[in-house]
Amino acid sequence: MAQSPRALIVGGGIGGLAAAVALHRRGWAVTVLERARSLEPVGAGISLAPNSLRALDVIGLGDEIRGLAAWQGDGGLRTPGGHWLSRGSAAVMAERFGGPLVLLHRATLIDSLAARLPEGVVRTASAAALVDPGGAGRPARVSTPAGELEAELVVGADGIRSAVRGTLFPGHPGPVYSGFTTWRTVIPLPGADFASHETWGRGRIWGTHPLDDGRVYAYAGARVPAGGRAADDERAELVRLFGDWHDPVPAVLAAARPEDVLRHDVHHIAEPLPAFHAGRVALLGDAAHAMPPTLGQGGNQAIEDAVVLAHHADPRDGRTVEGLAGYTAARKPRTTGISRKAVGVARLNMMRSRPGIMLRDAAITMVSKAGPALFLRSFDGIADWRPPRSPYASDETGVRVP
Ligand SMILES: Cc1cc2nc3c(=O)[nH]c(=O)nc-3n(C[C@H](O)[C@H](O)[C@H](O)COP(=O)(O)OP(=O)(O)OC[C@H]3O[C@@H](n4cnc5c(N)ncnc54)[C@H](O)[C@@H]3O)c2cc1C
Repeated sequence: MAQSPRALIVGGGIGGLAAAVALHRRGWAVTVLERARSLEPVGAGISLAPNSLRALDVIGLGDEIRGLAAWQGDGGLRTPGGHWLSRGSAAVMAERFGGPLVLLHRATLIDSLAARLPEGVVRTASAAALVDPGGAGRPARVSTPAGELEAELVVGADGIRSAVRGTLFPGHPGPVYSGFTTWRTVIPLPGADFASHETWGRGRIWGTHPLDDGRVYAYAGARVPAGGRAADDERAELVRLFGDWHDPVPAVLAAARPEDVLRHDVHHIAEPLPAFHAGRVALLGDAAHAMPPTLGQGGNQAIEDAVVLAHHADPRDGRTVEGLAGYTAARKPRTTGISRKAVGVARLNMMRSRPGIMLRDAAITMVSKAGPALFLRSFDGIADWRPPRSPYASDETGVRVP
C-alpha cells in the first residue's frame, strides 16, 4: 500500500493543532513538532466567533465548542462610569451571524483539538527549524532534536516570532509593537451577576465575560511604552488603573490574586508578507499575520487558515506545491484586511485625546441607535465567513473522506 504523504507542522498552538486535524482528515500523515514540554497555552480565555466555528465544523468540532457558549442576554460597549454606548444581545449576534460567540478557556480548545489526533502525532520538547523549503520534485527538510525529517508539506505555525517565516522571508521586518500592553485573568467570581461588556476609557480598555464553567474571563489593555512591568505586582497595577471603573470591575480585582494576572505586550505584523507560502512550506496563524486582539480574531483566523490550507494542500504527488499558491490567494487578502481593521480599532479604543474620546463615544452612541449595535456591525464581513465548499475534494483526489 502506498504511504500517505508527510506533513510536518512546526508549532502546537491553536493554528498548528487545527491544521494537524484538518490535514490528517485530508489524508496527510501529520507530525506536530512543539518546542514546549507540554501543550499548555497561556491561562486565559479566547473568543471564537461564528466564522471559526464554521471552520471547526469542517473538522467535526464546531458543535462541541458551540455547546460551551455561556454569554446570554445583553452585552456591549460601556464607558468607565458604566454608561452603555452600544448595546446588543447574544441572541441578536447569533441571528446576525448564524451562530453564537463562544468564550472558552484556551486549554479547553487545545485539549479538544489534540484529542482529535492519533496517539504519537504530537511531539513535545521538539524545537524545529526549517532547513530547506523544498520544491517541485524535492521534499522539504526540518531539523529536530531527534534528527532531520523530510516532508512533502511543512506548516509554519510557530507563532508571532516565527523562525520559519524568518527563513522563508529573511527581508521581512517582522512584528512591531502595537502600542499597548494587556492583562488577562480567569477566576471564579461566585454570585456575580453582570452583562458581558467591553469598556473603553482613555487609553485603556477592560472586558469581563462569563465562561461556561462558572468562572469569568477578564482582560484589560493600556497604552504604555513596550517592555514595562508593574513596580509591585500586576494586580495592584490594575487596581491603580481600573479600580474605580463600573461593576463588575472592582469585584474582579478583589477576587483576583496577583499570581492570577498575566501581562503581555501586544505586537502585530504591520507589513504583509509577500506570500503565505514558499516551496513546500505554508505559514499560518500568527506566523503569517499576527494582529492586535481588538477584534478577537487572531485565533479565529488561524483556525480558518487551517481548514483552507487543508482544502488547497492536495496530497497527490505533484499537486501540493501548486496548491499552496491557492492557499495564499485565499488567505492573504482576507487576513490583511482584518488585521488592518484590528489596528484601526486599537487606534479608537486606545485613544487618549479627550475631545477625540467625546467624539468617538458620541459617534458610537449615534450609530448604534440608528441600527444594530456598533460592536455587532464590527463583525460584518468577518463573522459571516464560510469555509470553502467541499473542503476536502476527496471524491476527485481519492483520499479519505472526513
Ligand atoms: C491579549 C490577547 C488576547 C487575545 N484574544 C483573542 C481572542 O479572544 N480570540 C482570538 O481569536 N484571538 C485572540 N488572540 C490572538 C490569539 O491568541 C493568537 O492569534 C493565536 O494564539 C495564534 O495561534 P498560533 O497557533 O498561530 O500561534 P501560537 O498560539 O503562538 O502558537 C505557536 C506555537 O509554536 C510553538 N513554537 C514556536 N517556535 C517553535 C519551534 N521553533 N519549534 C517548535 N514549536 C515552536 C510555540 O511554543 C507555540 O506553542 C489574543 C491575543 C492576545 C495577545
